[in-house]
Amino acid sequence: MKKPQIAVLLASTLTALGVNTAQAAPIKDKTYHFTILHTNDHHGRFWKNADGEYGMAAQKTVIDQIRAQVKADGGQLLLLSGGDVNTGVPESDMQDAEPDFKGMRKLGFDAMVLGNHEFDKPLPILAKQQKWANFPMLSANVYRGNKPMFEAYKIFNKGGLKIAVMGLTTDDTRKAVSPDNLQFSDTWVSGHVSNPKSTAGIEFRKPADVAAKLVPVLRTQADVVIAATHMGHYTDANHGSNAAGDVEMARAVNGIDLIVGGHSQNPVCMKAENVRDDAYVPGGECKPDRQNGAWIVQAHEWGKYVGRADFEYKNGQLNLVKYALIPINLKKSVTGADGKKNKVLYTDEITENPEMLAMLTPFQEKGQKVLSVEIGATNGILDGDRSRVRSQATSLGNLIAAAMQEKLKADFVVLNSGGVRDSIADGKITYKDVLKVQPFGNTLGYAELSGAQVMDYLNAALKMSAGSGGFPQFAGVKAVYDNGVLRDVFINNQPLDLKKTYRLGVGDFMAAGGDGYPKLKGVNPSYVNTGFVDADVLKAYIQKHSPIQAASFEPKNEVQRINPPSVDVAAQKP
Ligand SMILES: [Zn+2]
Repeated sequence: MKKPQIAVLLASTLTALGVNTAQAAPIKDKTYHFTILHTNDHHGRFWKNADGEYGMAAQKTVIDQIRAQVKADGGQLLLLSGGDVNTGVPESDMQDAEPDFKGMRKLGFDAMVLGNHEFDKPLPILAKQQKWANFPMLSANVYRGNKPMFEAYKIFNKGGLKIAVMGLTTDDTRKAVSPDNLQFSDTWVSGHVSNPKSTAGIEFRKPADVAAKLVPVLRTQADVVIAATHMGHYTDANHGSNAAGDVEMARAVNGIDLIVGGHSQNPVCMKAENVRDDAYVPGGECKPDRQNGAWIVQAHEWGKYVGRADFEYKNGQLNLVKYALIPINLKKSVTGADGKKNKVLYTDEITENPEMLAMLTPFQEKGQKVLSVEIGATNGILDGDRSRVRSQATSLGNLIAAAMQEKLKADFVVLNSGGVRDSIADGKITYKDVLKVQPFGNTLGYAELSGAQVMDYLNAALKMSAGSGGFPQFAGVKAVYDNGVLRDVFINNQPLDLKKTYRLGVGDFMAAGGDGYPKLKGVNPSYVNTGFVDADVLKAYIQKHSPIQAASFEPKNEVQRINPPSVDVAAQKP
């Protein structure tokens, strides 16, 4: 009795979803060949970097070649993105990623999932981006007013084989984008990550819960089910304080064939079962993860690679024939005979597609002109590299916190490392360099805390997993965090006095509960949002103190961690 009921239910669900349920099955004993190409976490990198690495013009050459080859072999192809096209390069950010989305259109993307950074700007800009892209932006788990906000999935008929692609967006988007939810007031400074209009009333449901309902429906409609996700790959489901990622979902939900992922920004190449090769070398063999029958792939970030998965389908059986990450002009540093460091390609040089170059060049030139204004200099590198700033104190973390401390007249500062997006190289500093480090336009605030509240706040900060965007950088704090117990706390070089009042400087994003920090805004009546924008404060500090003495910002073990909790450090939340 049960089966017909389910069938009726499914049919009505499908009708409601506008799905045509009468479609032909694949031909018996026929082998279908198809190729999935993928990138993720593009983050504004439409143009190659100063060393000539990545960029959409070289990507176009590679993708065009593969298309021609697959077509000649009688196969089919889908090009998918794991999301986060937005935010990270000033030339892109200042033009609302117009070159990036137009570039993706030219590359022939079939679909992308919305990443958390697609919500950095107000929704009308996302609507503009959808027009520039002209391919589906998918997400099954983003709701507004109890209704899905985007197309949940798309079914592609590829030479008689039906391939379903659904989108799933990390439920950390709420935490990473707009913690205030509906309570934003008009005084909120608009423009970036925490823009009220971008996520007010928007709900990010748990991707695995949504997938558990959707996948069985898609299985009745399609021969192959792909999830384009922006949730992160955490080795062996070790996701620390981040929301659950691809591995967790694949284990919980049956029936997914392939997960094209993003968000954690790493190549997903496995050394052994549940052991990711975090020292993956470009050009090397890459074995995707596999969990509960689902292959999981991710192509690092920024278009550094195009991922390529070649599949065969026959009589209901899907087989991954070959997988590769194709490096896009990636280079390594080698020291020559003259002792000088040179950048050398890992693999043969890929020429840039002239048509794509011609389309992108005016965008690049316009951006460069505005951003090349010199503001100061540093006499050493200021380290904000993601692999370090999210797991230890670094010189740039210290510098930004010091700039905030000075501007806010704060006794101490706690800074979320997720807000530090790049390093600053030795030498001249331009406005562009500063905007690369702090692209979000977040404003700064302060609150007066009692000594006891200082202890609570520092405890909350020190609990943040290494590798997460919440991992703290400090100014004015010395302490020992010993097996989870905070002791020997000094604020502004004085032992903490529980009876005294201290001024804490923070980003308004954190004060609103962003990255999982204790809420100050609306909770602590002394909290003030100054309206100062983080990048402007950093710029002013550099102008005032130029040349920056880089050595004086090197960490001196001010906050000592003894046996901090172990997590997957390489699994990072963007
Ligand atoms: Zn992301």
